[in-house]
Amino acid sequence: MKQWGMTPPTVNAYYTPTKNQIVFPAGILQAPFYDIKHPRSLNFGGMGVVMGHELTHAFDDQGREYDQNGNLHQWWNNKTIAKFKERTECVVDQYGNYEINNKHLNGRQTLGENIADNGGLKAAYHAYLEWASTHHEELPLPGLNLTHRQLFFLSFAQVWCSSSTDEATNLQIEKDPHSPPRFRVIGPLSNLPEFAQEFSCQFGANMNPKNKCEVW
Ligand SMILES: [Zn+2]
Repeated sequence: MKQWGMTPPTVNAYYTPTKNQIVFPAGILQAPFYDIKHPRSLNFGGMGVVMGHELTHAFDDQGREYDQNGNLHQWWNNKTIAKFKERTECVVDQYGNYEINNKHLNGRQTLGENIADNGGLKAAYHAYLEWASTHHEELPLPGLNLTHRQLFFLSFAQVWCSSSTDEATNLQIEKDPHSPPRFRVIGPLSNLPEFAQEFSCQFGANMNPKNKCEVW
């Protein structure tokens, strides 16, 4: 596969189900996503989550319909598909309840991206824990009284720090398969018990709700 759908300096990534192919252009392989000199906690929280996101696309509501060779072919049994749909309905409702500019997000339009955001965060966090379990603890970052587990989540959230006009946000809600940045952060974090644990969020609080969605 020599042809890419993005140029090398692009700060983005993609998964193509018909080729079962993931692409990370050079542009995204730099700070704040990744830097060889950064602590691994920051790299896993940035680039690691992007990698997990693209990988999860292979198993989202659309990607799941393609097999390992990129052919449209049902390779799950019906019971698995029914269970999958049960879990994804939770995500549809969760994001459909989010509001910005007095408008609700469209939980169906954004489903695939939200599945990828949630699966990517969880996979990358556990990949980081796995790495940390076999390496010496990293030096703390000066001026921040945070553990590296907390820094992983901070790095993830910082990637989505952004600013937008109301018009651009309204257009995004109408047309974009991605949720607005704020919800790409609080959606996945509030579904992850590991996040609540590291930041001691009270059970039932906004970022540690009693009802959590989990697909992957
Ligand atoms: Zn995506």
